Amino acid sequence: MRQIAEKLTHGIKEELIQLSEYIFNNPELGYEEFKACEAHVKLLKRHGFVVEEGFLDIKTAFKAVYDSGIPGPVVAFLSEYDALPGMGHGCGHNLLGATTTGAGITVSKLMKEMGLRGKVMVFGTPAEETSGAKVQMTNEGAFEDVDVAMQAHPASQHMKSGKSLALEAIQFTFTGKSAHAAASPEEGINALDAAINTFVSINALRQHILPSARIHGIISEGGKAANIVPDLAIAQFYVRATTKTYLQELVEKVKNCARAGAMAAGAKVEFYNYEASYDNLVTNETLSEAYSRRLMEVGVEKIEGAKKGYGSLDLGNISHVGPTIHPYFRICEENIPAHTKAFAAATQTPFAYESMVKTINALALTATDVLEDEKLLKKIKEEFQKAEK
Ligand SMILES: [Zn+2]
Ligand SMILES: [Zn+2]
Repeated sequence: MRQIAEKLTHGIKEELIQLSEYIFNNPELGYEEFKACEAHVKLLKRHGFVVEEGFLDIKTAFKAVYDSGIPGPVVAFLSEYDALPGMGHGCGHNLLGATTTGAGITVSKLMKEMGLRGKVMVFGTPAEETSGAKVQMTNEGAFEDVDVAMQAHPASQHMKSGKSLALEAIQFTFTGKSAHAAASPEEGINALDAAINTFVSINALRQHILPSARIHGIISEGGKAANIVPDLAIAQFYVRATTKTYLQELVEKVKNCARAGAMAAGAKVEFYNYEASYDNLVTNETLSEAYSRRLMEVGVEKIEGAKKGYGSLDLGNISHVGPTIHPYFRICEENIPAHTKAFAAATQTPFAYESMVKTINALALTATDVLEDEKLLKKIKEEFQKAEK
């Protein structure tokens, strides 16, 4: 199986390099990835996938399906192709898109050549860097018939799939009453005081939360002039935790700080989610081990443990509806931090392309394990049911 996968991937390598280079040369921000999306769709159609464009009314999203015609499991790969403002593909999503799409195409060809059962899907998922489309896609049931979901992200090392934090983006809008701050301060209700009280209470709360949680915020609106009592103040926070359950508990405590802050100032407060909420990534360890085994088989010698410091990923939401992994693959010999121009440049080297090919083979072979090994899929699903979320 390995030799056949390697031969098939070799056959599409040039097309994938072209895809990655085209996206690199045409960087587009979240929800504006028209060129990148179209290039993915063209390639997938050329290789026999049935593609739904503008998936779920998201203009730069797609769902591509290859059906073997034999009933069986469904394996999904997630593609991303959004860039960062001012630095192009500093997160390497050009290569990420080519890698996961390449894995999907290789699996479809393995299905044909080896008579494998089931379906393989490639989802085009816009705007990972901002308000990730995977949240809406998950909420609207896009992954309900998917058995396992996989994505591999470019990095300076091969790293196992780990965790990401659940995140809620809450805005507090405080309203009071304006008045002359010197002539008639007793007439005013100070919305800025409500916001400051909230920050003070949250600072006290921080001492009594799990060390892995994060609460960080700004005051984006706090009055117009020093001689007017501010009647409007706006604070925006990110609250993050390692589990969705703890996040919900923490968000309630943070909201209580704002309620108390508003009450103390005599102001009113309203809550609003100003960006999509991300769930924590729950790595399916059984699937992750299967992937690591395949990665070593295709010639990767060193796989580091999961990342220590972490942010939040919209892929987290998918991991709450089905078994998911998000490993990293090495694209450079030196350590280059992501979200830099240097990292973007590193996606276009022979070293990166070699690694892309190995990663595609490992992803595709893991998919064949899932499609053909019933015991493995059963174990993956049992772990998913039991996992702490
Ligand atoms: Zn990024
Ligand atoms: Zn990224």
